[in-house]
Amino acid sequence: MKILNHIAELFLMLVILTACDKPKKDLFLQIPKIDAHVHIYTRDNTFPEFAKTKNFRLLSIVTRADDTKKIRDRFDMAVYQKKKYPKTVAVITTFSMENFESPDWQQKVLDQLKADFDAGAIAVKIWKDIGMVFRDSIGNFIMIDDPRFDPILDFIELQDKTLLAHLGEPRNCWLPLDSMTVLSDRGYFKENPQYHMYLHPEYPSYDAQIAARDRMLAKHPNLRVVGAHLGSLEWNVDELAKRLDKYPNFAVDMAARICHFQVQNSDKVRDFIIKYQDRLLYGTDFGISDKANIDARKQWLEEEWRNDWKYFSTDSVMTAPAVPDSFTGLKLDEKVLRKIYFENAVKWYPGAFR
Ligand SMILES: [Zn+2]
Repeated sequence: MKILNHIAELFLMLVILTACDKPKKDLFLQIPKIDAHVHIYTRDNTFPEFAKTKNFRLLSIVTRADDTKKIRDRFDMAVYQKKKYPKTVAVITTFSMENFESPDWQQKVLDQLKADFDAGAIAVKIWKDIGMVFRDSIGNFIMIDDPRFDPILDFIELQDKTLLAHLGEPRNCWLPLDSMTVLSDRGYFKENPQYHMYLHPEYPSYDAQIAARDRMLAKHPNLRVVGAHLGSLEWNVDELAKRLDKYPNFAVDMAARICHFQVQNSDKVRDFIIKYQDRLLYGTDFGISDKANIDARKQWLEEEWRNDWKYFSTDSVMTAPAVPDSFTGLKLDEKVLRKIYFENAVKWYPGAFR
């Protein structure tokens, strides 16, 4: 009998030891996640399939191109993916600015948006070329608070869709190269002086871009607006907090701007994210087209997803190519992680993934 007891004890110990040995659950794979800012301009199924293996869903955004045909091609590709992967891919459309000043421009846009919503689009993206590129016939820049946009914004609201607004650029764009905070901006604007607004004072200022956007938010208090790229207030969480306080209809995605959190004080950023945990959406700005190297893009996306997760979920000391100094992870708790990675996107983009 004693021997039997011994055997039972040994067996129990073995069970306990094996249990301790088990790796801790990988929360990254376990919780459902949405990358709320990607551009999938291909019918190739690599990325929806890949997203599924990481428990990710993808909000695929059609960004405006030079011509209407290109926009329609991109939209068709996104809808193709959505039809094939309704639980994994959702689609955000856009509209053309071609012939903005012609009297039937608004009606054409409204008709197209109606058709796109019928095809399953859940939101409308507007881009920085409003405010930075298009001018009216007398040479004034067309800003987003221009009354000619109002019927379109009203329609989006009436249809219970969301506006995704990429307006302006990072504030660095208006600063000299050596004053820019993140190295990626320094590199980009050095290579692309035509977009470096510091060199082009004849264009609207950074403050003018933000002010026009803020006036649009105030004018449409019941329109759900997600500001892409931290609403172009990436440089200072206090400035972003002011807008989130003032405009309850405003949330932001973090696509391609997480490095701007990483150059700010980590305690301050952590407090900000906890305070505004219902208003922040995770996103990468990943893009893929038929011309791209699929394996390289897949590796990039996997690294991005993993590094961002490490930053938000641990307190590791980290480095990143865009960030001049090392920085500390934010170690957000699971409740906050679930919101920024999933629940907020579902809330701010109703109708996605059905
Ligand atoms: Zn983007």
